[in-house]
Amino acid sequence: MTDIVVFCDFDGTITTSDNIISIMKKFAPPEWEGIKDSILSQQLSIQEGVGKLFSLLPSSKKDEITQYILSHAVIREGFGEFIDFTKRRGIKLYIVSGGIDFFVKPLLEKYVSFEQIYCNESNFDKETIEIIWPYTCDDDCDNRCGCCKPSLLRKLASLDDYKIVIGDSITDLQAAKSADKVIATDFLLQKCEELQLHHSPFTSFFDVISILNERLEV
Ligand code: MG
Ligand code: ZN
Repeated sequence: MTDIVVFCDFDGTITTSDNIISIMKKFAPPEWEGIKDSILSQQLSIQEGVGKLFSLLPSSKKDEITQYILSHAVIREGFGEFIDFTKRRGIKLYIVSGGIDFFVKPLLEKYVSFEQIYCNESNFDKETIEIIWPYTCDDDCDNRCGCCKPSLLRKLASLDDYKIVIGDSITDLQAAKSADKVIATDFLLQKCEELQLHHSPFTSFFDVISILNERLEV
């Protein structure tokens, strides 16, 4: 039987809103908005833009930022049950995230092991926060993604795996295009409809469990 391999986004998918945006709103000086707009208009790549955003924040704020996210981020309903389900059914799960380790990992540590998490990293040795990029684009992507989801798909899944991408935004689209099935919400859902990718919508992780159950019954 083909293995099912699931690639699940973090911000806006596991959490109900984007944590980088919440951090900037709370901790960054006003010029963060201009950088955000340049990312959205694609004048800056995600990698350059996110690097610039975090360079606005003093390294001394690290613990305060982590605590802020731990107490404010909302995990989407059914996520814990979804994790149990993947373990029970032997489904391989990777969290692929453009978020940063110092808030992604503390939020996820009670759910998954760190070997399942692929995200950007951070360095607090300098005055301001520096982002480190362990998973940049391979030769087949020239998007300067930062954490390159299509590259990770190519690296972590084999050709005959049934690849499922779960996500919510433009940053999941390239990976979604090379998946066998997309489970989508928000902007990614619109895109899947537009491009007629094989997909199902979801609101909670209970929906995700039902969708995976259908596949397991095939
Ligand atoms: Mg997202
Ligand atoms: Zn890329």
